[in-house]
Amino acid sequence: MKCPHCTGRGVKRGLRRTNLGKKQLYLCTKCGRKFTTDWPKMRFHRSDVMHAVRLYKSGSSSSKVKRQLESRGVKVSRWTIIKWVRRFG
Ligand SMILES: [Zn+2]
Repeated sequence: MKCPHCTGRGVKRGLRRTNLGKKQLYLCTKCGRKFTTDWPKMRFHRSDVMHAVRLYKSGSSSSKVKRQLESRGVKVSRWTIIKWVRRFG
C-alpha cells in the first residue's frame, strides 16, 4: 500500500474504529506516518479507475486508455489517467 505522504510503502498496523466502522490502518516504513486506505471521494467509479491503471501499466498509452474508457462511457482526460496511475498504480 502506497504511502500518501512519501514514496514509501505502508505495512498493516491494526484497525481504527470509527463511527462508520473499522478502517485498516497502515504505517509507512519510510516516513513513519500512519494512514488509512479510504477511497477518496471522486466522480469516477473505482472499477473504471482500476481498469485504467491496469491498462496503462500493461503498456497501453494514456490516449489508448482514454479511448478505452470512453468506450465504457467514461469521459476522462489523459492527465487524469496519469494521476490515477501515480496515485493508485
Ligand atoms: Zn511515508
